[in-house]
Amino acid sequence: MRKRDPSQKSWAEPWKIKMVEPVRRTTPEYRRERLREAGYNTFLLASEDVSIDLLTDSGTSAMSDYQWAGLMLGDEAYAGSRNFYHLEANVRKFYGYKHVVPTHQGRGAEHLVAQIYIKKGDFVPGNMYFTTTRMHQELAGGAFVDVIVDEAHDPESQAPFKGNVDLQKLEDLIKKVGCEAIPYVSLAATVNMAGGQPVSMQNARELRALCERYAIPVLLDATRAVENAYFIQQREQGYREKKVAEILFEFCSLTDGAWMSAKKDSLVNIGGWLALNDEEKFDAARNLVVVYEGLHTYGGLAGRDMEAMARGIEESVEDDHIRARVGQVEYLGQKLLSWDVPVVLPIGGHAVFLDAKRFYPHIPRENFPAQTLAAQIYLEAGVRTMERGILSAGRDPKTGQNRLPRLELVRAAIPRRVYTQAHMDVTAEAIEEVYWNRKRASGLRLIYEPRYLRFFQARLEPV
Ligand SMILES: *Cc1c(COP(=O)(O)O)cnc(C)c1O
Repeated sequence: MRKRDPSQKSWAEPWKIKMVEPVRRTTPEYRRERLREAGYNTFLLASEDVSIDLLTDSGTSAMSDYQWAGLMLGDEAYAGSRNFYHLEANVRKFYGYKHVVPTHQGRGAEHLVAQIYIKKGDFVPGNMYFTTTRMHQELAGGAFVDVIVDEAHDPESQAPFKGNVDLQKLEDLIKKVGCEAIPYVSLAATVNMAGGQPVSMQNARELRALCERYAIPVLLDATRAVENAYFIQQREQGYREKKVAEILFEFCSLTDGAWMSAKKDSLVNIGGWLALNDEEKFDAARNLVVVYEGLHTYGGLAGRDMEAMARGIEESVEDDHIRARVGQVEYLGQKLLSWDVPVVLPIGGHAVFLDAKRFYPHIPRENFPAQTLAAQIYLEAGVRTMERGILSAGRDPKTGQNRLPRLELVRAAIPRRVYTQAHMDVTAEAIEEVYWNRKRASGLRLIYEPRYLRFFQARLEPV
């Protein structure tokens, strides 16, 4: 008899399943047909034709019994719903900002921030762009400037905080354009487009000090800030003994406000908010939210949605929850790594990112290697993923040319509390199979291209 190695200890999810939703299985022939109809764009597949849906972790989480119970306590008043006050209290308690308005989702808040802060000709530095964030900055007349550290663009760099701001790049920009032309620094934690990579507390502190010198506010994209706090706990000196909730609070205290897509960290299917410490700017936000979202105490949400969000915030900062959440992503990533499948390192907080350039070195960028890979993974096993490369990057608004991001990735985003380890095993095996057959793949070309955020609705065909 052999004794199990006692240092190899498994952990289990801190929840059990109370209700299930059947998943449909399909044949390769069926999927080939559906993929063709969908223009080889995984966004255009019907969800019923997908067996394991890793398109996004946005709005796809499973709510807890505590959250579902909260839905029944929805106070559907037009003004002053008690659920708004619960939400406001929890944003103040866990994120620490003074003033809050709800929005229907993250981009609703991004729209308000951009309209309030940005004037035509401004520059908005950020640690790598996010699709909707940059779009709103541009529509408000600003130009996004990437000031993330160089390692972020290198999928093989194992740096622990690849989301960090390169303070030198930022200071160079300030000196070049002047601080009057920089309405705020757009800080994201974690950085989705870099592969779910975190920002260190030290970097946030140094950023704060630099921005204070030039009187530039720092605004946080707090969408995945809880996952960022978990990485700080695990990787940064001095934080091992601190609770994730404490770390989150400290991190936010280094910023002047935040926008939030609660569809990610906060474990709800819809919702978001904008929080600002500055009274004047908040006043503008409260005015503008009425125009675009709804009254400042509901912002496009039902009372029940705000209650689910308030409760989701409480659950999202629990150490056990976040460890299991990020741990499941790590499990999938390690499995792929053990089979030499090229993934972005370190493995991110919400998703495993596959490096399509190393999958398909023979497919030129203009034939969308990452889009091709996402299509192949669906064909293989009905697993749906998303392109994060040249198609997502879109075109330069001035020149009309394709933007050429250095990263050409496919994202397998893991919904929170939805799939089991067995789903991760099936996913890993499907991706490994696609990797083995990589030489047979050829690229795609566009046959329909929308003007804004083209990746959502573009249609393609095989070359
Ligand atoms: C999802 C997301 C947004 C936009 O939020 P929506 O709720 O989808 O409108 C903004 N920033 C980041 C980092 C996101 O992941």
